[in-house]
Amino acid sequence: MKKIERKTIIENVKSMLMDSVKTLHQEVIDAFVTSREKERNPLAKNILDKILENHEIANSKDIPLCQDTGLVVCFVEIGRELYFDYDLDEAINVGVSQAYTQGYLRKSVVKHPLNRINTLDNTPAVIHHEFIPGDKLIIHIAPKGGGSENMSTLKMLSPSEGREGIIKFVLDTVTSGGGRPCPPLIVGVGIGGNFEKCAWLAKKAILRPLNDLTENPIDRDLEIELMERINKLDVGPMGLGGDTTCIAVKVNSFPCHIASLPVAVNLQCHSARKNEVILVGKEIDNADNR
Ligand code: SF4
Repeated sequence: MKKIERKTIIENVKSMLMDSVKTLHQEVIDAFVTSREKERNPLAKNILDKILENHEIANSKDIPLCQDTGLVVCFVEIGRELYFDYDLDEAINVGVSQAYTQGYLRKSVVKHPLNRINTLDNTPAVIHHEFIPGDKLIIHIAPKGGGSENMSTLKMLSPSEGREGIIKFVLDTVTSGGGRPCPPLIVGVGIGGNFEKCAWLAKKAILRPLNDLTENPIDRDLEIELMERINKLDVGPMGLGGDTTCIAVKVNSFPCHIASLPVAVNLQCHSARKNEVILVGKEIDNADNR
């Protein structure tokens, strides 16, 4: 069995978050640059310029891209050869707490949906776990903005609604969201499973690399068609019209019940913040996990 020290988890989560709220992945910046070149609407072009300029300012001044520094979502892939003699989720939350308090990031989490009392350190994060072969721990994090999350949707379609029903639901979600999810978007679509599984699939989809076309030909065709049709909706950057409503569509699917066709659409705003780290377990006899 191998271990990863608790303090390694805390430090990595903290630094990934502090970095991700200020810096977009290069692939996202490249997508905005390409969209700007193709964009025919002058106002939309101007907004894309502002988004790129905002990124440069955030980088050079070491400040967040957006005032909403999100609710932290983590997908944790845990190698089966790893052994933890501490609470992994607690360690992740300590990393979140340190990032938001020491980094002076906005704390956006309340203790109860109805009492609205701020937890003051942006914990707890929403953490999903999966087991994988080997001795690695892979942590994907996304500080997810409230605006785009609020415009995300889920519906249990009838199987007879089929592919067209899914497309209509995704297009309706993007159209009714308008400028509120802060487009240009990354649109994550989860199809199948059940009520909670399709939401998980959709959330996981927004973390896929932008150039990652899924291997499943049914899902790949949907990704291509949805991308084309969403960008014809004329929602545009910040909902003010244009050719650039989304920079990517990612579809994840899973088997489902014969009577169901669950569909979830998770919208990621233009502050498409994410980060990941791969930690490798070590044979440690007397790990200092304090
Ligand atoms: S949806 Fe995204 S860009 Fe808009 S306010 Fe929230 S975090 Fe910022």
